[in-house]
Amino acid sequence: MTHRILIIGGGIGGTMTANHLVTKLYPEIRSGKVQVTMLSNSPWHYYKPAFMYVAFNSFFRDELRRPQRGLLRPEIDFQVEDVEGFDFTSNQVRCKSGRSFGYDHLVISTGCIPSPERIEGLKEGGDHFYQHGPARQLADKLSKIEKGRIFVTVSFPKTPNVPHQCGIAPIETTLMLDDMLRKRGVRDKVEIVYTYPVVSQLLRNCLFLQKDTCEVLPTIFDQRGIKFQRGFTLDRVDPGAKVAYSAEGKEENFDILMATPPICAVQAVRDSGISEAADDEGWLPTDHESMKVLGLENVYVLGDTVD
Ligand SMILES: Cc1cc2nc3c(=O)[nH]c(=O)nc-3n(C[C@H](O)[C@H](O)[C@H](O)COP(=O)(O)OP(=O)(O)OC[C@H]3O[C@@H](n4cnc5c(N)ncnc54)[C@H](O)[C@@H]3O)c2cc1C
Repeated sequence: MTHRILIIGGGIGGTMTANHLVTKLYPEIRSGKVQVTMLSNSPWHYYKPAFMYVAFNSFFRDELRRPQRGLLRPEIDFQVEDVEGFDFTSNQVRCKSGRSFGYDHLVISTGCIPSPERIEGLKEGGDHFYQHGPARQLADKLSKIEKGRIFVTVSFPKTPNVPHQCGIAPIETTLMLDDMLRKRGVRDKVEIVYTYPVVSQLLRNCLFLQKDTCEVLPTIFDQRGIKFQRGFTLDRVDPGAKVAYSAEGKEENFDILMATPPICAVQAVRDSGISEAADDEGWLPTDHESMKVLGLENVYVLGDTVD
């Protein structure tokens, strides 16, 4: 009987794993003993870090995506399917198309999704650069602002010790913002305020989640006239009045709110019934040595879906 390895998600984790498996198991795949199948809900592979550059008009959609099929070794059976449910007892995944796929080993690599709606008013009043559409919208605002205040916030997931998406992105984009506004000749009329929440994984009241970076940041920001505040945990936003409120009781006005929003796992994973994460965030309980989902011998989880 053929041993079926099923990989869900054609992002970085799924693509690397599928190609590595074919390299390692090539003789078994050639002889039909093993089959590798990938299901992904998009025919495209997006290079997600480049969304950041989209917000600064220096990267465009066709430069940052490739057809997923073209990134996979030919031995991999790739199918565009939106997975909506997992049955870990009968080793099956269910797709929105009505099809089901069985497996002997399952790899879940469905990433995470920005969820600004988890903070009152943030979806309506804020902007972000973690997906293509929102990054384009932010690019439009950044290329037009002539004067005012750009307020930068970062929100961590509620599950302890899970970081926000791409650790360094808020700092990188704050510096890119400074650069862009200087090039546009409006930097002296636009105030930039970078903030970080009280709790950042193991640190408290810092400017970043790693100590070394925290220590150098004030000098870097001072050199560029970027203001900064520790201990601003975004609690809610009034989109009409353009005010951001912190859990610590501060109120800050803005013209553009450039936020790193909360994140969560995709719906199918949140509905899987095996997550123990706080606030229905959906991260899967992971053995960090083997990447197995705890309690399931034949299921692995990678990348942004781990806890
Ligand atoms: C702006 C930005 C900057 C970043 N910068 C960096 C950086 O500098 N360095 C770094 O290491 N990381 C960076 N990252 C993070 C990095 O992109 C992610 O950690 C990485 O993409 C995670 O890989 P993944 O396979 O877990 O998920 P993803 O790459 O997100 O892939 C998930 C895949 O699953 C598919 N999928 C989702 N739901 C379903 C479903 N229900 N059914 C079928 N398929 C589904 C999606 O279509 C996608 O193909 C950045 C991210 C962003 C957004």
